[in-house]
Amino acid sequence: MAEAFGNSPRRDSNGRALLGGLALSDLVRSGSIRTPSYVYDLDAIAAGARELREAFGNESHLVAYAVKANTAGPVVRALAAQGCGADVVSGAELSVALACGVPPLSIVYNGVAKRDDEIDKALGAGILSIQIESVEEIVRVAARARALSLGRGARARISLRINPALDFEALETHANIATGHDAAKFGIAQDDLPRALEIIKASPEVELVGLGHHIGSQIPSVPAYRTAARTLFSLGVAVRAGGVSTLRFLDTGGGFGIDYGAGAVPKPGDYVRAALEERKAAEVDDTMLMVEPGRSMVAAHGVLVSRVVQTKVSTVRGTARRWLMIDAGMNDLIRPALYQARHRVVPLETNGASADFTATLWRVVGPVCESSDDFGVHALPDSPPEHVALLDAGAYGYVMSNQYNGRALPDEVFLRGGQIVTINRAKSQDDWVQERVAIQG
Ligand SMILES: *Cc1c(COP(=O)(O)O)cnc(C)c1O
Repeated sequence: MAEAFGNSPRRDSNGRALLGGLALSDLVRSGSIRTPSYVYDLDAIAAGARELREAFGNESHLVAYAVKANTAGPVVRALAAQGCGADVVSGAELSVALACGVPPLSIVYNGVAKRDDEIDKALGAGILSIQIESVEEIVRVAARARALSLGRGARARISLRINPALDFEALETHANIATGHDAAKFGIAQDDLPRALEIIKASPEVELVGLGHHIGSQIPSVPAYRTAARTLFSLGVAVRAGGVSTLRFLDTGGGFGIDYGAGAVPKPGDYVRAALEERKAAEVDDTMLMVEPGRSMVAAHGVLVSRVVQTKVSTVRGTARRWLMIDAGMNDLIRPALYQARHRVVPLETNGASADFTATLWRVVGPVCESSDDFGVHALPDSPPEHVALLDAGAYGYVMSNQYNGRALPDEVFLRGGQIVTINRAKSQDDWVQERVAIQG
């Protein structure tokens, strides 16, 4: 079986899984990396960003990388170096983006419940726009702008995040990551748009510079993205017709799908080309087209490397059940437990050049005391590998990790130019013990 190893990683002629040109098994065996570790290929991340930006041709655009997918400095800096901006969802993420060299005028700030201090930070930094998610928030941002007295006619730049009221089943995405249905807490309902515009008109402290939406994550279909974009652009036309002359950008959001192994999905550039066509058709192509991809920028370029701790085989009513127990758990990668997501699990080494093995179905599980600490059933060698990689773990992986069950956070390893450039080593479990015990009372 010539097995494909992830979207970007491949195997060498000895059957060793490669990432960023390095054999992951060598890194583990030499002790260069511990398990569990997230390993990221910064060159592939940069190349993906270049390819996406090329899809825009000469059109005015901003790729605002959704920092929440992977907040690591080397990742954000690599994307900033490719001319990406940032979409942040907290004051802390805003600080990361600024410190990693993202220009303020390439940053947008989303979030349904921004605190006053976070709004103040965004206004102080002079970011491109605060994306407003409710009519109530317009009043709050105007009040903060007044309190900070931005002065000399400078107004707080805001954009309206519209809730497109889509049916998430039609979008074929998981309910927990769909954000564009009308019961979601996100965005301003279209019926509330006239009221929002009235308040903006009456608020000299704010200036409406954009309209946007984010219809959800892991959208597998370009037609769905296109249809939503068309609606957004027609709203842009209507808002201008209503007398707003300050619109600078239209933002069709992120959510580009990636291939977690179930089959081909569109390329990020396909979504962009569809949006560009619709923007032209709507005759709003004097505005900048913004997209906010997170997952598609980083997911395929990171893996979670884990050691097999033991197997467990039991016979239940005459049927063998086989578990492969690894040293990574749901605290390291929560997506399977949270979204029923499936990450391919592959051995770091296969025997010999052919990458042939007798496949056995193993249920791969972690050490955490929860039934949902389960990475699903995977075809792996009959004699279990010493180490495995969970693929496509570069997005919503480390950022969601936690210390449940007294587990240390995983390490993060960054590769560039065929070598390890840096390792973010986690605090030990002993530190965790001491921290818990040291709480007095
Ligand atoms: C999370 C998020 C994104 C990125 O979504 P992906 O599915 O990772 O591309 C974009 N915009 C907003 C507002 C978000 O909350």
